[in-house]
Amino acid sequence: MITLQIPVKFTNEDTIYTTKQTNIELDCTICEGKGTIVYNNKNMRCPECHGKGKFTSNKKVHTVCEEPFVISTTKISISSNGNPTVKYKGRCGFSNYNRSEDNLFLSKEDAQKRCDELNKAKISIRVEDIVIPDSFAQTQPSIDKIQAKLDYYKTNDKFEKYIVINRNNELQDGYINYLLCKLLNIEYVTVAIEV
Ligand SMILES: [Zn+2]
Repeated sequence: MITLQIPVKFTNEDTIYTTKQTNIELDCTICEGKGTIVYNNKNMRCPECHGKGKFTSNKKVHTVCEEPFVISTTKISISSNGNPTVKYKGRCGFSNYNRSEDNLFLSKEDAQKRCDELNKAKISIRVEDIVIPDSFAQTQPSIDKIQAKLDYYKTNDKFEKYIVINRNNELQDGYINYLLCKLLNIEYVTVAIEV
């Protein structure tokens, strides 16, 4: 018999949180969200939104689930090259979700941070066009950090976090991932734009 030892980040003894994508709700512009309009001194159901007061837009936003994520099943799969992937089946209140370790958090604050990052506008940009301020260019990131981020990229085929730039294409965060783009000859990368 062979015993496999697979490290898992969470067990069902942990209180953990996850995030979900929801459509943005916009207030009806005719009734200003009230659902009724005044006509001949009478309150009438708003004909624009049929009394709902809101419209569901196609735009999605990441939010933190109110209720903690309760793990019901932990699924471990091992690829042919021996890399384990851990996924969790669970529920928040009455909703069921499948989540990877990346999308589970030990606090609501951490989950919110992830949402903030995901909700930033993203564009694909030529790595060459990213401007590196001196404050980054003068730093010497540790080999360990570079190795860890490279390992993540190789395993997941994406960076753990988006490179962040401002409206002038100047790097704000993610210098190591930028260096990896150069190293790996990546031509275009998806970046988050800070406003
Ligand atoms: Zn309305």
